[in-house]
Amino acid sequence: MESKSQAGPMRVLVTGGSGLVGKAIEHVVQQEGGKVDGEEWIFLSSKDADLVDVGQTRAVFEKYRPTHVIHLAAKVGGLYLHMRENLQFLRDNIKINDNVLHTAHEMGVTKVVSCLSSCIFPDKTTYPIDETMIHNGPPHDSNFGYSHAKRMIDVQNRAYFQQYGHCYTAVIPTNVVGPFDNFNIENGHVLSALINKTHEAKKEGTPLNVCGTGAPRRQFIYSLDLGRLIVWVLREYEEVEPIILSVGEEEEISIKDAVDMIAEALDFEGKIHFDTTLSDGQMKKTASNAKLRRYLPDFSFTPLKEAIKMTCSWFEINYDKARI
Ligand code: NAP
Ligand code: GDP
Repeated sequence: MESKSQAGPMRVLVTGGSGLVGKAIEHVVQQEGGKVDGEEWIFLSSKDADLVDVGQTRAVFEKYRPTHVIHLAAKVGGLYLHMRENLQFLRDNIKINDNVLHTAHEMGVTKVVSCLSSCIFPDKTTYPIDETMIHNGPPHDSNFGYSHAKRMIDVQNRAYFQQYGHCYTAVIPTNVVGPFDNFNIENGHVLSALINKTHEAKKEGTPLNVCGTGAPRRQFIYSLDLGRLIVWVLREYEEVEPIILSVGEEEEISIKDAVDMIAEALDFEGKIHFDTTLSDGQMKKTASNAKLRRYLPDFSFTPLKEAIKMTCSWFEINYDKARI
């Protein structure tokens, strides 16, 4: 992916730079030659600044004076954490997003790429969902706090464009899988929680407990593919309208199929139990990647089986430092 010429060297501040997506972008930039000479990339964690706090947000922007921002920082978690903490997801994310976007505006940042998610789409809708449909009805009840906070990023981006002509935009990834995820069993997303659970079940010789029926369907993107695409968006994508970053609709699979891939990758041969007393969450949120394909018809996605295999290996090798 060649870069369009920039007015000067970019200084890119990545909020949430220590998480699943941030670490993938760091890898793309530092290991895959994604960085152009003269550019500077700064990857922040919450230790650098608590972005819920406007003073700390301003201080970290003052310190680094970025020209570009990739805004990933968010209160993030799996279905069951959302169901317990909708209020906290709403309040933290509203504050983080307003602090980052408005500080970027005040400091003359040229471009901001923020991160939405396909789980903020309307619950009752037609499929596939595309970028024009984000606000067409309430989100799924399980994560309404996070969803409304995220939807407001899109509203705010449009307002910055209308009032100031800024190119502040957003990407909409589907479920992400990869190294450096939060593998916590109670709070993590489905694949990372299940990788940890499968590892435990194998070690203890106990059954693997999957939450829900296994019937819901999801599109998963490998974090490094997402990292490559977000760097492309920063360099090349000039719309304020968001863009879905996803594998095709035909790649959507059931949770049960994903469980089988994890069991195979970790060589787990024990019993698999589906706890149907637990919520399934959204049954599906099938997203269209037609817009992405119009820009990048040849982008090649890592097959999910490979992505899961690599993530499982990373988890086993890095067990002591992984977030569990
Ligand atoms: P993650 O691994 O949990 O990382 C979250 C990042 O945000 C970490 O760097 C964390 O810093 C930082 N952060 C959290 N609260 C903060 C605060 N108050 N102040 C400053 N930094 C804070 O999450 P992720 O999966 O990489 O998510 C990145 C973005 O992708 C989010 O905007 C999320 O909504 C979006 N997204 C994720 C998925 C997915 O499946 N994971 C899907 C769609 C969209 P520490 O490391 O210091 O805690
Ligand atoms: P979502 O895609 O936004 O709904 O969030 P998750 O990544 O948490 O995925 C939730 C889906 O995976 C639901 O259908 C859950 O029933 C199912 N699932 C199965 N086992 C687990 C698990 O151990 N943790 C989580 N978070 N979800 C699980």
